[in-house]
Amino acid sequence: MKNTIVLITGASSGIGEACAETFAAEGARLILWARRADKLDTVAASIRERFAVDCITHVVDVRDRDAVNKAIAALPPSWAPIDVLVNNAGLSRGLEPIHEGVIENWEEMIDTNVKGLLYVTRAVLPTMVARKSGHVINVASIAGMQAYRGGNVYGATKAAVKMLSENMQVDLNGTGVRVCTIDPGLVETEFSVVRFRGDTDRASTVYQGYQPLTAHDVADTILYVATRPAHVNIQNILLTPTAQASATVVHRT
Ligand code: NAP
Repeated sequence: MKNTIVLITGASSGIGEACAETFAAEGARLILWARRADKLDTVAASIRERFAVDCITHVVDVRDRDAVNKAIAALPPSWAPIDVLVNNAGLSRGLEPIHEGVIENWEEMIDTNVKGLLYVTRAVLPTMVARKSGHVINVASIAGMQAYRGGNVYGATKAAVKMLSENMQVDLNGTGVRVCTIDPGLVETEFSVVRFRGDTDRASTVYQGYQPLTAHDVADTILYVATRPAHVNIQNILLTPTAQASATVVHRT
């Protein structure tokens, strides 16, 4: 990965932050995006200090198409040829059954997880295709493959990411650009705190009684995907904690 240019969305916490550390440890040059400038700056400062790699940050809300396009267009020439795009920014909101769903939550998830991912991908892909090289790694979820109570719209957004990835694969066939979907099960990050809007007690119950995945477990998997030889394309990886058999079956003690 030495000097490879990697753009990671949602790099201010969780899986995105862990990806930044993991890729930095391999010598990659990082472009880190998220909305919280303070968190992003802290992640970037720590990475520069520990790994001595180039790292730039941009405060970008992936739902803002103009901001996405401007951030890509403003990249200096030495940063423009992005080699790896990790489409990680995403969130869930609420766990209500569909008939009690909060429309604003649905729109936020669709705008971020689906439309945001599309905006970023559309902005980055042309340079990859022109260079006949590049790797798009989309973070979907086990929730996009299997239903669970209250997962409804979040699951649908991740199913959309999965099908988009498959279609990207087909459209990009012959261009040399690779596409992979990573489907994590339960990972302990800020994810559940965001889902329950800051209710840390409720969020912590999600991870009780078993050993969840860490953000670094997922980042290691993403690094593995990104470091295969150019002729090898891992199209999909589902990873769960050993205690998790499916979206709904988790062995808790
Ligand atoms: P997290 O700790 O909450 O991280 C989410 C990241 O996305 C944050 O850096 C957040 O940064 C960023 N983000 C959210 N909305 C954004 C927006 N509109 N524009 C730009 N950045 C945005 O949760 P995580 O678990 O690491 O989640 C990362 C990805 O993994 C998500 O796509 C999630 O759906 C997926 N996933 C998570 C799990 C799990 O159990 N944790 C399982 C399967 C899949 P800012 O708030 O600073 O913008």
